[in-house]
Amino acid sequence: MPREKAELVAPCGINCGACSHYLAYSRNIPKKAGKISHCIGCRPRNKQCAYLKKRCNKLSNNEVDFCFECEDFPCERLEHIDERYRKNFNTSPIENLNEIKYDGIDTFLENERKRHGCPKCGGTISIHNGKCYDCEKIESWKS
Ligand SMILES: [Zn+2]
Repeated sequence: MPREKAELVAPCGINCGACSHYLAYSRNIPKKAGKISHCIGCRPRNKQCAYLKKRCNKLSNNEVDFCFECEDFPCERLEHIDERYRKNFNTSPIENLNEIKYDGIDTFLENERKRHGCPKCGGTISIHNGKCYDCEKIESWKS
């Protein structure tokens, strides 16, 4: 599995490789205020993640690579993100983290490809809007 794909899995378990903002950036889809923005991925950007990183010492000090390595896993903040993502985007960062923990990153990435691969073109479908960024017209990151 190429190293750059693993780099796209954020500490919280969200796969940036299937995120609307990364897909828009990597597919060169023009930015549109409030609707389409670009992101190179949480890890490559070393982002002070709005959800977790700036509120978590272990993450901001790079003491853990993934949240499952923490004795508090899953902490309240992560549970909050998990709830939001399950409800809005049908994706569970905590389930992702458990998959990485027990099956390894390579298996997780293979499963992700099956979960978010486009049946029509083999491209990637965003976890946020369910659209294929390789063969569909993209109007907004979440719809
Ligand atoms: Zn497609």
